[in-house]
Amino acid sequence: MTVTRFAPSPTGLLHIGNVRTALHNWMLARKDGGRFLLRIDDTDTARSREDYVAAIRADLDWLGLRPDGEVRQSERFDLYEREFARLVAAGRVYRCYESAQELELKRKVQLGRGLPPIYDRAALALGEADHAAKAAAGEMPHWRFLLDRDAAIAWDDGIRGAQRFDAAQMSDPVVRRADGSWLYMLPSVIDDIDMGITQVLRGEDHVSNTATQLQMFTALGAEPPRFAHEALLTGSEGKLSKRLGSLGMAELREQGIEPEAVIALLARLGTSDPVDPALRPMELAAALDLTRFGRAPARFDEAELQRVNAAVIHRLSHDEVAARLPDGMGAAAWQAIRPNLSTVGEAAEWWAVVRGPVAAPVMNSEDHEYLKIAANVFEQIDWDLPEARNESWKFLTANLKETTGRKGKALFLPLRLALTGREHGPDMAALLPLIGRDEALARLAGVRAAA
Ligand code: GLU
Repeated sequence: MTVTRFAPSPTGLLHIGNVRTALHNWMLARKDGGRFLLRIDDTDTARSREDYVAAIRADLDWLGLRPDGEVRQSERFDLYEREFARLVAAGRVYRCYESAQELELKRKVQLGRGLPPIYDRAALALGEADHAAKAAAGEMPHWRFLLDRDAAIAWDDGIRGAQRFDAAQMSDPVVRRADGSWLYMLPSVIDDIDMGITQVLRGEDHVSNTATQLQMFTALGAEPPRFAHEALLTGSEGKLSKRLGSLGMAELREQGIEPEAVIALLARLGTSDPVDPALRPMELAAALDLTRFGRAPARFDEAELQRVNAAVIHRLSHDEVAARLPDGMGAAAWQAIRPNLSTVGEAAEWWAVVRGPVAAPVMNSEDHEYLKIAANVFEQIDWDLPEARNESWKFLTANLKETTGRKGKALFLPLRLALTGREHGPDMAALLPLIGRDEALARLAGVRAAA
């Protein structure tokens, strides 16, 4: 069974890039009928915040990406301790004492000699007496994972294809600080094993971590999961700007963006499949194919999100939005108004136009006369007859065209202006029955003539 996870650090709000990773992991799990787990990476207790944990859960909930389980790293220190002890016993982690300055100096010297700036493993030469002396002097060690420099590091990346790294060109990573706290690398592997993760999908900024972590899986006696690394998100003009990079879900929600729009766009951005606002999240999941993800950065454009959002709204049923519509706004009104909306919130403005009052427009005397005729024609409609009521706009305009010889804008615009107070808007044929007979008549008759 496929088990995926989304592992955010609660040191900030989810931004569009994190959400994309979460979504793709959710889709992978849903596609296979597997499990999608949330892992809160809060080993950094100083920077992690409870309000961010709450916001992450709320954002995933809003998006409909509900996890099938959740673990928190801060509750799992015992497990890390036990697994770490196994690595100590196996000699796969070792104690080091170099300060940041010393390491920096070593790097400079190596670079000066044209050597790769990797840790020289000097601390491996220390004996028990050396460690005892350090301890007596109050020096606490930090720990590095001992890479196996003879083992080939290779994997078949779900997106990038065959990957190969040379461990001899890599530094033994620090996995634990001198104060006993954990760095990201090892707890993540311990959790992926413990949680039974079968597929890790994350940003390509983690590719070199994967090279290291693969050896950790092996050192802990586990079969590594499959890995896939997706190209990072960029703005439409290159790098993701600071503003876009930190664009949170709450902000999108306030702008009237629907979760389905975020999902429709992010599901396909950076793939060779077209963004399709008609597809629902489960359908998108079913059609997910990692091989269609490109290596080039995926460009995120807010204007595109707004377009997708409008297209999503134009497909939402009345049932899906009823709770967010003004009182009394029924299915017929939603159907009529929906094609004109860029946000669901705008429905209230059009509903106010339907209900009235609308400001009576001032018109030249010709149009004023024209509307008087229109009112007379309109009065002939037998409003109690549903067919007549529903065809009222067609009847009115056909009749006026015939009797006044007007056509196009001259025929339609004065009517629209009188009936809605606006030059543009939803289809009048759908709007007019909603406005109702008496109100429509009053609006046609209420137009003032310019002095
Ligand atoms: N907490 C890590 C991050 O946000 C998780 C990376 C991973 O998926 O392993 O980058």
